[in-house]
Amino acid sequence: MTNPTGQRAPGDAAVDCLAAQARADLDCLRFPTEEWLAPRVHASGAHVYDVAIIGGGQGGLAIAAALRRDAVTNIKIFDRRPEGKEGPWGNIARMLTLRTQKHLPGIELGLPNLTPKAWFTARYGEQAWEKLDKIPKGDWQEYLLWYRRVVGIEVSNGTEVTNVTWDGDVFRLALSRLDEDGTASAADDVFARYVVLATGVDGNGAWYTPDFISSALPRSRYANSGDHIDFAALKGKRIAVLGAGASAFDNASTALEAGAAEATVCLRRAEIQRINPQFWMGKAGFLRHFSSMDDQWKWRFMRHMYSYNIPAPQDAYNRLSRLRGARVIQNAGWRGVKMVPTPTGEEIEVATSGGSALRVDFLIAAVGFKIDLRLRPELATLADDIALWKDKYTPAIGDEDPTLSSYPYLGSNFELTEKVAGAAPFLSRIRNFTYGATVSMGLSGSALSGLKYAVNDLANGISRSLFLEEVPRLYESFTSYSIPEMTGPVPFDNRPGMSAR
Ligand SMILES: Cc1cc2nc3c(=O)[nH]c(=O)nc-3n(C[C@H](O)[C@H](O)[C@H](O)COP(=O)(O)OP(=O)(O)OC[C@H]3O[C@@H](n4cnc5c(N)ncnc54)[C@H](O)[C@@H]3O)c2cc1C
Repeated sequence: MTNPTGQRAPGDAAVDCLAAQARADLDCLRFPTEEWLAPRVHASGAHVYDVAIIGGGQGGLAIAAALRRDAVTNIKIFDRRPEGKEGPWGNIARMLTLRTQKHLPGIELGLPNLTPKAWFTARYGEQAWEKLDKIPKGDWQEYLLWYRRVVGIEVSNGTEVTNVTWDGDVFRLALSRLDEDGTASAADDVFARYVVLATGVDGNGAWYTPDFISSALPRSRYANSGDHIDFAALKGKRIAVLGAGASAFDNASTALEAGAAEATVCLRRAEIQRINPQFWMGKAGFLRHFSSMDDQWKWRFMRHMYSYNIPAPQDAYNRLSRLRGARVIQNAGWRGVKMVPTPTGEEIEVATSGGSALRVDFLIAAVGFKIDLRLRPELATLADDIALWKDKYTPAIGDEDPTLSSYPYLGSNFELTEKVAGAAPFLSRIRNFTYGATVSMGLSGSALSGLKYAVNDLANGISRSLFLEEVPRLYESFTSYSIPEMTGPVPFDNRPGMSAR
């Protein structure tokens, strides 16, 4: 069905039509498709993947798609979440829309028919796109699922990678198969030559609850923004949220929309942050070439970025300020929390840096995640060998920054590096495409604005490494190549005096 301007009416049919167009585009650009990597088998007889990707979110999907364009097809993505529930979008993301602009490209491999704009327009129509401010998170998740199906990327969902170890000449990935409810049902191992960590913003650490909270309160009385929170259970409750970023505002709004009596967002700083330095970073030169700077410049730029908390976007602020019971207090960092008795039971008392004390029923720590590789089960065996910035860079006096120092120190192609040379040379075969890559590579893993350049850089780097390993075998194959191109009879000139051969 088409509308009066001849365009296909928005909806399923239009989305299917777009999928067909995108596949046609991929087909037009398919050369070269010939497999060039030799299959490998583990000593146990098990299959060896060329690349195992941990995480089936936007990052993992984009890396897989880019590798396939280099005919690196012996790859596998593992994601512990069910299909269509990868990433934060349908889980801990409590905003209504993405925080980034709608037109950001990133995973479409340069093909307009694979862009979020093309998908949204096919789904809802041109006018809907024109009117759209930012992409609703549910639509983004649906776009990712559509993208994955169109490009033909397989993901082993419900599969958690519980440990990665080096096994002689390949990695052994210990897998735990999870049922829909997340309980482990089986375990097995797979093998891979290269591993990509596409495990999300918290992929190099964990969502963080300050110790003074977790040590003072029963678990039922607090959560952090990375937890699954039963907001319905907070109906009629008084909530206090620690944090100044988007998650703090979004969690407070979600609690009030679910019926909480009040939600107070507590900002540590005396002045609310209004500037988001990441917007300045959205420049082609900076996004593409940040990683080419020397350590000192990387450190200075990142130190400046991290000196800001990324503020909540205006629409998160507007959403909260429209809700009854919403409050934002500045200069209210938390000094301590404790349970105090009340005539009807117990409540939480929060002592703030501004001197005021809050009395509430539930706390939400929305202070982000901590970078600490030892907190990642899949990296537990390797973490102590992985170099961090503190192992490789000594900032000038006064320029120290413990947060930056805790980030992994990556090579020029997202590879992990060794703390001690020679102790774990295989680490370079692990490519880090989480937010942990930011200090070394700039906005890249787990940031939409960094995907446009970073995805190809990482994929090209892996296919380059695979190629260089294969050179001796490729040379053998090249020098033994003997498939004639010209097979037909040669029209020899038989005129008298002309030699036949
Ligand atoms: C609440 C929230 C809102 C955000 N909003 C924006 C935004 O608007 N714009 C923007 O640019 N960025 C945003 N980000 C940052 C970032 O873009 C997103 O986090 C995005 O999801 C990152 O994509 P990813 O593929 O790197 O990771 P994810 O989408 O998080 O995917 C990682 C996947 O890895 C899987 N996984 C992790 N560990 C394992 C394991 N051991 N075994 C198997 N599977 C594993 C997880 O199940 C998950 O599905 C937001 C982040 C959060 C948390």
